[in-house]
Amino acid sequence: MMADLRDLYREVIVDHGRRPRNFGLLPSANHRAEGFNPFCGDRLTLQLQVVDGMIRDARFEGTGCAISTASASLMTEAMKGRSTSDAEALFASFHAMLTGERQETDAALGKLEVLAGVREFPIRIKCATLAWHTLLAALHEEERPVTTE
Ligand code: ZN
Repeated sequence: MMADLRDLYREVIVDHGRRPRNFGLLPSANHRAEGFNPFCGDRLTLQLQVVDGMIRDARFEGTGCAISTASASLMTEAMKGRSTSDAEALFASFHAMLTGERQETDAALGKLEVLAGVREFPIRIKCATLAWHTLLAALHEEERPVTTE
């Protein structure tokens, strides 16, 4: 049972790593941030269109490992149509899941749960959280590039 679930999670990560959703430029973007994970070499630029406190659209570009690409793909998918405060709450839940601060399942995470297995590989946590730290930077419109350090 657990093995089946792990296989399913792995399939979702491989799928999003190979065929990332929301990959490309967003001409209507009004929030933008860059992220860099020096431990793995993952780089991404995240663009958001935020209107009246709601994330209307999200896209990213960059190069990185399968985990960082899959995480960015899943994150942008999860963010569309979400309020910015809801987005920050989801960041907190996601971060707590990966750092092991919270062991039980948070229903709000939905499909993002597939990345929970990453916490068994501490060096990979930075790959999985890069897009999320970049999201916070984009929401706060910080101009400087973000790193996971
Ligand atoms: Zn990586």
